[in-house]
Amino acid sequence: MLTRIDLRGSAADPRRLLPRAAVDVTAATEAMRPIVEAVREHGADAVRAATRKFDGVELEHLRVPVEALSRAADALDPDVRAALLESIGRARQVHADQRRTDVTTNVVPGGTVTQRWIPVQRVGLYVPGGLAALASSVVMNVVPAQTAGVEGIAVSSPPQRDTGLPHPVIMGACSLLGIDEVYAVGGGQAIAMLGYGVPGECEPVDMITGPGNVWVTAAKRLLRGEVGIDAEAGPTEIAILADDTADPVHVAVDLISQAEHDPMAASVLVTASEELVGSVEKELVARVAATKHSERVTTALTGPQSAVVLVDDLAAGLRVVDAYAAEHLEIQTRDARKVAERVRNAGAVFVGAWSPVSLGDYCAGSNHVLPTGGCARHQSGLSVQTFLRGVQLIEYDEAALREVAGHVVALSHAEDLPAHGEAVTARFST
Ligand code: NAD
Repeated sequence: MLTRIDLRGSAADPRRLLPRAAVDVTAATEAMRPIVEAVREHGADAVRAATRKFDGVELEHLRVPVEALSRAADALDPDVRAALLESIGRARQVHADQRRTDVTTNVVPGGTVTQRWIPVQRVGLYVPGGLAALASSVVMNVVPAQTAGVEGIAVSSPPQRDTGLPHPVIMGACSLLGIDEVYAVGGGQAIAMLGYGVPGECEPVDMITGPGNVWVTAAKRLLRGEVGIDAEAGPTEIAILADDTADPVHVAVDLISQAEHDPMAASVLVTASEELVGSVEKELVARVAATKHSERVTTALTGPQSAVVLVDDLAAGLRVVDAYAAEHLEIQTRDARKVAERVRNAGAVFVGAWSPVSLGDYCAGSNHVLPTGGCARHQSGLSVQTFLRGVQLIEYDEAALREVAGHVVALSHAEDLPAHGEAVTARFST
């Protein structure tokens, strides 16, 4: 079912040989540009037109009435409500430990630099609702923003065809988290609405976060600079580094679980064990046929972005997973914790047989909004830090400035910016 890439005996750079989804964000960006510009120029009318076209919904108001949110919370299935509360509680516990404290450094007597951490004032959080309504993404976006102390939080998620409102579990989750500003808008038009604002309907935000499909990603690229944008969290990816101790059932069900997200999702197994590959293939064939979203899973697993990568040994496997920089990396090997500590590049690492990615998707306490497409080499997933800005307070007294004045003047002359030096010397020449 999975394409095989045999890197055994190969000295080539694995980055060039690894599978990757052919997501053409550049083409999508050109398609989104007129929609984003229309929202900037024509506001609510353009948001309604795009919603009519892409969601098949005629929106009266973009904003969801607060009563609809509390009604949705009241109507939650008790098991789902309990699960959401557990997910929120664990996420709050983990994210509380990510808070930063202000730090003052005494550089010299009378000269200090204080690093302050100030929350972004108003944020827009996108919650996907196309192929699957991701109520868990409400938790993953809102909890770090609230923990950071963000004052204004607006959530946007696509409308359902029958109600014109976001999915009821998404609305219920917003209500449980105390969010009352929710918009029934999806795709790139939601990103443009949040970024530019829509007079009378939605105030512009300072930053937009949250995962989404290629249209959402494209609109985020167009808005970058206008507002802050988090990492690109595109079609989901799982890589599993496994040895001959891995249980083929665990490997197969985890590969399938992420393929279920999207036909463009990537599932990659990296191993030196041909025997494991054979057993996993058998499990995949049986289980994919029986799973609910069999067609989507088959497309994802047989697509060019998914594969089995055969390597010589564990060290070679680690080089491959570092080069791939998966959004989710599972370590199913002997001494999994030790192996995990050798990983450099991954959005999140799931250690050992009892920490599947689905646990992290919902209830581990960790955040599931993670960088995809190799961005884990240079970016982090969503956290409290995402919603904080570091502002430095520089405070020197007269003696401390006098002591360093000569160095400032020397550097200002070296850069041919003498007025910089004069701004210091003038203070001591009167
Ligand atoms: P979505 O909410 O991102 O997109 C649905 C919206 O797309 C619709 O409301 C519609 O307005 C718009 N749209 C549909 N077709 C369009 C077209 N032809 N042109 C312009 N706009 C169009 O939901 P989705 O489609 O289910 O995608 C969610 C994605 O998020 C998946 O790829 C999933 O893997 C990913 N995801 C990633 C992470 C992460 O952390 N990386 C986490 C969760 C989900």
